[in-house]
Amino acid sequence: MIYLNHYTHCGKSWTDEYDSVCKDKCPVCNKEVTPTSSDVMKEDVAYCPFCGGKSVVWVNTLTMRMIDSVEDPGIQKFTDTYFDEYQCQNESCGKSFYEIIEEPK
Ligand SMILES: [Zn+2]
Ligand SMILES: [Zn+2]
Repeated sequence: MIYLNHYTHCGKSWTDEYDSVCKDKCPVCNKEVTPTSSDVMKEDVAYCPFCGGKSVVWVNTLTMRMIDSVEDPGIQKFTDTYFDEYQCQNESCGKSFYEIIEEPK
């Protein structure tokens, strides 16, 4: 697992990637700072649907709210769906795409 930690100190905000939720040194005062929040990232490989390249590694698991079509026309329902976000490492492509990893119940 890789964590994208967000830090704020001395009026500055920055992010850093670590393999844990850990402190980082403030670039201004050099003090150890606890992250204000942390995004869970993980590494994975998938095939890019645009260029077919397989060097797609950067993944961010995120939750999105999707609109579901329901039997009753005119009524829309929101459900939670989990996506893996991939970014193509092919420089001439570089597109982002999503894969559903968990269907809503
Ligand atoms: Zn500081
Ligand atoms: Zn691509």
